[in-house]
Amino acid sequence: MNNKVFLYGSGDTEVDLEELGIYLKRIFMVEPELRGDFFSYFGSDSEHIAERIAELRVVDISKPFRKNEPFPLEVKLEREIIKGKKASGLLYDGFYFMEFMRDIIPEKERKNFHLYITDRLLGTFDDIDARYHARTIILGYPCIVSTSGIVEAPAKPREYYIEKGLLKGVDELIRLKENYRNRFIDYGDRRMQKVVEGYSAMAVFYHYLGEVFCTSKKCRLYNAHWQEELIEAQLSEPDFCTEHEEMRELLLMEGDFLPES
Ligand SMILES: [Zn+2]
Repeated sequence: MNNKVFLYGSGDTEVDLEELGIYLKRIFMVEPELRGDFFSYFGSDSEHIAERIAELRVVDISKPFRKNEPFPLEVKLEREIIKGKKASGLLYDGFYFMEFMRDIIPEKERKNFHLYITDRLLGTFDDIDARYHARTIILGYPCIVSTSGIVEAPAKPREYYIEKGLLKGVDELIRLKENYRNRFIDYGDRRMQKVVEGYSAMAVFYHYLGEVFCTSKKCRLYNAHWQEELIEAQLSEPDFCTEHEEMRELLLMEGDFLPES
């Protein structure tokens, strides 16, 4: 039974990896192994890795991905991020980022589930409106959950943007955010742990069962486009809709964690 899963957490997220492991073990009976940052774990040549990551930065959100030719300073910053510095304000192409990670995973571990929790903001280019959009999660191999994406990708309530446009200072912004506390997840939010647990469960469903998003707004597999939807899907009971709860139970009963080959 191949139920060993590898969890990676990058630098400065609000997420406790150990607690996440306990959740996944309780829900899916997997055996988590905590590995710290993905790139530090595998990074025998951190200079090369930093340079490659810097190439994956999106410099113009209105154009499809083109490899960035990084300045030495950008590479230096990437090295610091790998060591734990916050990755604030930078956007990377999510699919190329995932591919880059996949190539690093050694052959003998490629049957296992690898999950990376990062504060890097990942986006995918949408041909329809010809621009990049931030993502909460990249479902693929490996799966990536972005805490910055959880804050930035789903939209905040419309009224919030209107009120924000009328603000005059930082104090007012703090007050405004306080008023909307229950309606969106912000940086440094204590609810982030629970939200990431839900998105990680989504990744497990994808990896073992090929399930993508759910249409039930109460289910943790719901692909929220609004912050209020995200809060409802991730922070209210029950965890999963009836269909996904049944799938979870089946997965446990079969005890078959071998991924589709
Ligand atoms: Zn569901």
